[in-house]
Amino acid sequence: MFFKNDRGRGAAEKTIPLVPLRDIIIFPHMVTQLFVGREKSIAALDEAMAKEKSKEIFLSAQKHAKTNEPGPEDIFAVGAIGIIMQLLRLPDGTVRVTVEGRRRARIKRFQQTEPFFAVDWEDVPEAVHDGVEIEALMRSVSSTFEMYVKLNKKIAPEVIVSVQTIDDPARLADTVIANLPTVKLADRQGLLEMPDAKHRLERLIELMQAEVEILQVEKKIRSRVKKQMEKTQKEYYLNEQMQAIQKELGGGERDEFKNEIQEVEAALKNKRMSEEAVAKVKKELKKLKMMHPTSAEATVVRNYIDWILELPWYEKSEERYNLKEAETILDEDHYGLKKIKERILEYLAVQALTKKLKGPVLCFVGPPGVGKTSLGKSIAHATGRKFVRLALGGVRDEAEIRGHRRTYIGALPGKIIQSLKKVGTGNPVFLLDEVDKMSSDFRGDPAAALLEVLDPEQNHGFNDHYLDLDYDLSDVMFITTANSLSGIPVPLQDRMEIISLSGYTEFEKLNIAQKFLVPRQTIDNGLGDVSIDFTEGALRTIVHHYTKESGVRSLEREIASVCRKLARKVVDEGKDQAIEINAKTIPKLLGVPKYRVGKTEEKPEIGLVTGLSVTSVGGDLLPAEATVFPGKGKITITGLVEKGMEESGQAAMSYVRSRTERLGLAEDIHSKVDVHVHFPDFVKKDGPSAGVTIVTAIVSALIKAPVRHDVAMTGEITLRGRVMPIGGLKEKLLAAHRGRIRTVLIPKENRKDLRDIPRRVLSAMRIVLVDHVDDVLREALVVADPEKMFGPSHGVIEYRFGELVTDGSPAPVEAPIDPDATLELPVEGPGGRPAAE
Ligand code: ADP
Repeated sequence: MFFKNDRGRGAAEKTIPLVPLRDIIIFPHMVTQLFVGREKSIAALDEAMAKEKSKEIFLSAQKHAKTNEPGPEDIFAVGAIGIIMQLLRLPDGTVRVTVEGRRRARIKRFQQTEPFFAVDWEDVPEAVHDGVEIEALMRSVSSTFEMYVKLNKKIAPEVIVSVQTIDDPARLADTVIANLPTVKLADRQGLLEMPDAKHRLERLIELMQAEVEILQVEKKIRSRVKKQMEKTQKEYYLNEQMQAIQKELGGGERDEFKNEIQEVEAALKNKRMSEEAVAKVKKELKKLKMMHPTSAEATVVRNYIDWILELPWYEKSEERYNLKEAETILDEDHYGLKKIKERILEYLAVQALTKKLKGPVLCFVGPPGVGKTSLGKSIAHATGRKFVRLALGGVRDEAEIRGHRRTYIGALPGKIIQSLKKVGTGNPVFLLDEVDKMSSDFRGDPAAALLEVLDPEQNHGFNDHYLDLDYDLSDVMFITTANSLSGIPVPLQDRMEIISLSGYTEFEKLNIAQKFLVPRQTIDNGLGDVSIDFTEGALRTIVHHYTKESGVRSLEREIASVCRKLARKVVDEGKDQAIEINAKTIPKLLGVPKYRVGKTEEKPEIGLVTGLSVTSVGGDLLPAEATVFPGKGKITITGLVEKGMEESGQAAMSYVRSRTERLGLAEDIHSKVDVHVHFPDFVKKDGPSAGVTIVTAIVSALIKAPVRHDVAMTGEITLRGRVMPIGGLKEKLLAAHRGRIRTVLIPKENRKDLRDIPRRVLSAMRIVLVDHVDDVLREALVVADPEKMFGPSHGVIEYRFGELVTDGSPAPVEAPIDPDATLELPVEGPGGRPAAE
């Protein structure tokens, strides 16, 4: 190791002018141009230029580039002695000067600070090494520098060549650093102040490596951005080209298509939708733009976009929760139904309190025409919502609820989404009609899809297969209706609050007709300003002879028919005369009566019995006839081929066999005769519960005793003749009432159900509660000595016109004031014990 620069500098001046530099550090061997503007610095340069020989100047950086008038303390002590190679005065008074760095130097002291800085200086002695280590360091600096230059496009590649020719480590270090524009000022000053070339090389490698890393990352980013740009440019170009081609092909169509797309874009801007939907429409729109306007695909995409844009995403009608108002509306639209209305109001009250539709879904169960749909409409009216109805009868494919995926040709959204589009608001009352009439097959189970629709936990994200977007159904107020509970899948039943509507009594029907149906139909048929008197007799005739139903749908239809006939008459004859419709005019208008009131016989007949049944359209009379002829003990049941019926027949026959002696029949009668029981009414019945009916018919036929024609009965039997309870008592009694039956025999265990029967019905008939077939036969058959034939009574309970007459507790029953209200009957629990003490 030896020291350079410590030779005597003979000619070199010890005091020279100084120029403080901003933002640049001059290294030995470095040639650079400086623009000098500060007066003090220009004065220093002038002074140096004045020296004929050396033109030396001290170049040292300011500690802070921003300082305008630096003092000695603001200037780094170590700098470089430079030589002025060229000086040019510019017209604006500043100076451009080319300097070359010569040697490292340190300021010893400031000789003067005005009018320019002049300093005494000394050399910074440089330690110089040689050997393998230095060689290795030098090579490594060169190669790293090469890498740096390749990455940094701002440095001319020739620099690499000139760097490679340098064999002096100190000079190499100084040259390289001079060519690293990205290294920070502080780091450069640090390098300048390092007297040892080896240290300088080491530090350089460190700095360069950091720089290379940064440059590499930069390069990566740049190339990524570039790729992206290229892709967009390419797309744009291709798009333009395609449009040009399509213009050639389609001409006018294309313009139209463009307009259409613009319309969709405008609609998209104005429509509030879920973020997902907006994104989807944008995506599809992009696809659409690239398609040919008349292609099948374009139509599919356009339809899809239209569906999304036309759905009510956030459109809602303002909801009202005024219970008083709701009650008034329900009363205005419907006669009676007191308990039902109360339950609806309770339901609305809960929603008013929670302001949410989290509770169970209302389900109206009852025969057709009892007002299920119209109650739904009233609820919509009362809560300020719109109303939409969807008939589920016959729906057997899940896709009808949930839609087909778009991959199918002609795919459409499911009925839920279709209905919402139709109604145009996101919070309507949505009536799902006839949920019990859905069926499932290999195409999936619609009930499962419906389950998701009705579940408040899931339905905020209802996913229709066609839309393939989540749609929020949680503001929709779903109401379901069904004719019978048994048809509704159990998991669905769990989600619903069941409200049962049973059929109307004749009295109720007349009232509904007078107060609602007649006024509505006269107005609907343009007879609003004609004076028409629809007498009660006329309505009663229609109810009895032209309709057979639990509800009032046919009644309304027949009234409408009468009104149409009247309309014709009014057009022909003028509006002036008053028209009276009475019982006699009805057959003239409606033709021959269709039904007889009560299909019972005129007088007692052998083998003819009236049973009672419930169907999905309400209760009905169920006539049965039996004949006996010589044979081998075969029993045939026809008319109603249901499994349960055959068994009822077997049980009936077994009972007869156990009673042969008492009934006065031959002991082997069961093997000598064939019995045929026929139900002439072929309508499919839900629960015929016809055990007692069959026994009565068979016994009547065997012993040739007529059956009372004004008695109807219902009940299953056991082998020992016990009468078992049945379902649907209310519907059955209403049917008996409609059929003008005087006496109804029902199982004792159904006594508790009498509570639900309107008083008006009870007080029109005699009801005998029995628990043994013997008592049924005693009541139904006309025989000379019932006691002998059927044995002693097993104890019956009898209500005659609403009053309890035989029960062991003969206290008269207090009649409620409202004739349509149900009776407060003293009712016992099963087994004869009072239900409550
Ligand atoms: P459902 O849906 O039960 O088959 P609808 O609601 O269609 O029956 O009723 C049939 C017709 O009978 C409707 O015009 C309805 O307004 C009328 N209606 C039913 N019950 C009543 C009632 N209690 N008061 C007034 N009108 C009624």
